[in-house]
Amino acid sequence: MRKAPAFRRQHSPAPLFRPRDDLGQELQRDGRQHAAARGYGWRWQQARTGYIAKHPLCASCAANGLTSATELVDHIIPHRGDMRLFWERSNWQALCNWCHEHVKKVLEARWDEGEIGDAALRLDRELTEFFG
Ligand SMILES: [Zn+2]
Repeated sequence: MRKAPAFRRQHSPAPLFRPRDDLGQELQRDGRQHAAARGYGWRWQQARTGYIAKHPLCASCAANGLTSATELVDHIIPHRGDMRLFWERSNWQALCNWCHEHVKKVLEARWDEGEIGDAALRLDRELTEFFG
């Protein structure tokens, strides 16, 4: 039988040492940089707002006969910290949350497995598999 785990305090004091990346920026507990350090800072908020103003409708829904407001700017090819891909506007697409969660994430998983190519990550096309 397993022994009950030892009692641990819920709120332990902040550690004296915090992991940092190569640039000396503090990392989150999961080892990733904070959102701002990954590029999602003020400059991104400005760029994102401007892009959504120009692309108010979800590109994926629009290509499939639906009308949904843009809720986020998606990086077509995941940037994974590559700042060139991050800021390349031709790598952006306006999506609603539903398309991001239910279409893009599924396709990205297939792309990660090498099952589909880069072009398949663009959602401004007929996607009968998802929109049936
Ligand atoms: Zn959509």
